[in-house]
Amino acid sequence: MTMAAPSAPETKQHNQPVKMGFFEGPSVPDYDKILNCVRCGMCLPHCPTYSEMKVERASPRGRAALIRAVADGRLEINEGFSDQVFLCLDCRACETACPSGVRIGYLIESARSQVEQHKPQNPIARLMRSFIFNWLFMRHSRLELFSLPLRLYQQSGLQGMLYNTGLIRLLPKRLQFMESLTPKGLKTPFRKTLPDEVPAMGDEQARVGYFLGCMMSIMFNKTTNSTVNVLTRSGCRVVTPKNIRCCGAPLLSEGFKHKAVELMKDNIDTFEKLNVDYIVTDCAACGAAIKEYEEIFEHDDEYRDKAKRFSEKCREITEFLAEWPHYKAPLPVHDNLKVVYDEPCHLCHAQQVWKQPKKLIQETPGVEFITLPESEWCCGSAGVYNITHYQMAMKILDRKMDHVAETGAEVILTANPGCLLQLNYGVMQRKLPMQVKHVVELIDHEGSEEAWRKPAEERCQTCGRKPRPECRTASDN
Ligand code: SF4
Ligand code: SF4
Repeated sequence: MTMAAPSAPETKQHNQPVKMGFFEGPSVPDYDKILNCVRCGMCLPHCPTYSEMKVERASPRGRAALIRAVADGRLEINEGFSDQVFLCLDCRACETACPSGVRIGYLIESARSQVEQHKPQNPIARLMRSFIFNWLFMRHSRLELFSLPLRLYQQSGLQGMLYNTGLIRLLPKRLQFMESLTPKGLKTPFRKTLPDEVPAMGDEQARVGYFLGCMMSIMFNKTTNSTVNVLTRSGCRVVTPKNIRCCGAPLLSEGFKHKAVELMKDNIDTFEKLNVDYIVTDCAACGAAIKEYEEIFEHDDEYRDKAKRFSEKCREITEFLAEWPHYKAPLPVHDNLKVVYDEPCHLCHAQQVWKQPKKLIQETPGVEFITLPESEWCCGSAGVYNITHYQMAMKILDRKMDHVAETGAEVILTANPGCLLQLNYGVMQRKLPMQVKHVVELIDHEGSEEAWRKPAEERCQTCGRKPRPECRTASDN
């Protein structure tokens, strides 16, 4: 590939460079952030790709060095550079380990954006990627439309027929994998059935904006329903804007930063008008992305302050509930249920939320919490990584499932849609007698019931839960 020779750095407003070595345009990474890497190597044992490949270029330190070489004009944006920045899982385990605070996630996302701008691609691949990231992800309604054939496939009996006859095995391997990742029993997307506002059960303690992520809404109806049950049971009015857009994480991670920024601005404006006390999400990836809006808009005069307010209000659901004084733990419905918790990378490493989900689990009556070795190690899902880098994703999943199998747990808990899908696939592959659930499903004793739809007369007026014989209901007054 022929590229222009590097020239002296040019700058735009707020000293953010528009050209640096072979990088150019609005997603040029901040050079100071590249220089933070002092090459100490403390991140190496924590990096899943380095652990598998044992080559420097597949390590956080190696990737930082490659990005610096392009910024210095010593390396062009070529195939080798692209391979390494896309082989990274963006799991951020290196960020937790790094004593110098190197933000590899930020560097990788900037580098991917540069690759997307500069690397030649075949026209069909470019068209497909543009269709997915420039069009499909730009509206919830488009994603919902594309989920319709999947629901029809499941509900029409075609899926059952393919499995019963074994015809499913005739599908190309990649398609079989994608088919088996999809949760069974897809329902109408939750965004379409959830009212704009759901009042708190009992006294209202806060007005909470629900950042209902695309994947959660389309694929995890039971989990999102549990989120609303638990929030309303804990004194929160749940406000869900229907014009919510994707958080931008999938676009950022695939190098479509300019489109991600468009989505982010819309989300900031939408939630700003709602006057909510908190913004809560049950998707770890959405939470991580929203908390980074502040950094993404640090050079934007119009959005800097608004983005900061938005990020500061954001709480991941387990983080929120574990610290919320009005949280009501579930009734004792389990009997010595053995559970493990697998930490989503975008919760523990990207948001540094470690203790809160475990606290909620350990405080749930009738639950035995078993420690999962390497619970903070990536499961290999990483957005669409398990589709684009299937072999590597499966090696990483194998390591995870070896640990999971040893625990003898009945339930694997996690808090991110990609992890739910990937772990579920691991369980199916190994035929383990385990279920995979989001933490909110464990702490929602109402299960799949839409408790939040029930009239006040059918709820305890003190605790907001389903009335027991000793409870007081509105009809008693
Ligand atoms: S990324 Fe951090 S931990 Fe890794 S080599 Fe650089 S400074 Fe050290
Ligand atoms: S984000 Fe994960 S895969 Fe990427 S360099 Fe860091 S530890 Fe390695």
